[in-house]
Amino acid sequence: MKQKNWKFNLEAFHNYFNEETAVIFIANPNNPTGTYNTHKEIEDFLLNVPSNILVVLDCAYYEYVQENDYVDVHQLLNKYENLIVTKSFSKIQGLAAIRLGYGLANASLIESLNRIRQPFNINSFAQKLAINAIDDKEHIQKSIDVNQEGLKYLSEELSKLNLTTIPSVGNFISFNGQFNGKELFEALLRKGIIVRQIDLYDMPDFIRVTVGTMEQNQIFISALKELL
Ligand SMILES: *Cc1c(COP(=O)(O)O)cnc(C)c1O
Repeated sequence: MKQKNWKFNLEAFHNYFNEETAVIFIANPNNPTGTYNTHKEIEDFLLNVPSNILVVLDCAYYEYVQENDYVDVHQLLNKYENLIVTKSFSKIQGLAAIRLGYGLANASLIESLNRIRQPFNINSFAQKLAINAIDDKEHIQKSIDVNQEGLKYLSEELSKLNLTTIPSVGNFISFNGQFNGKELFEALLRKGIIVRQIDLYDMPDFIRVTVGTMEQNQIFISALKELL
């Protein structure tokens, strides 16, 4: 098992890579579970990965995480030359439509990537939007607050319905119960609510719901109550 309590058991990763491994990819927080690995877990892992293997730490949900033991990206980047941390404008900034993300790594790794980069990739309009969005601390904080409140509300309400939730630090929560994910997904869709069935992740009796505004969260919970 690579997973333990729905989070990556990084110690077990060592059984899966060998001299042919080029890249190890870790989503932290992970999607669709919403669980995360701590700084210590990531660091213990990096200490034992040969430096010729590139480790990609996908931190798409970075800002949502409020836990003190979450990764300190600066510290890791200063120490590990084979690490790249990736982030996206699709999540906290809400700019999925501009199709822009970025990676943080040491200068020599970035220089290598730059050599194979397509000459025409990120358009200047998207870059301009991203520069403004990254400075919009007010929007980021507001999204964090709305998300914290929503996560708490959804996990409490789902538990009241006797559903099992996976503790999430992202902007979504996955849960299961006595239902088929695909059927519940379709029933919610007919009520105008789009969630995710996650059978592709081998979780056919789970549903992942994204945290919305409080009004949207409440609409979702009442629709769910009608269906269960
Ligand atoms: C959403 C997401 C991304 C970023 O996706 P974009 O292509 O930038 O929209 C990356 N990793 C994970 C785990 C995600 O959930």
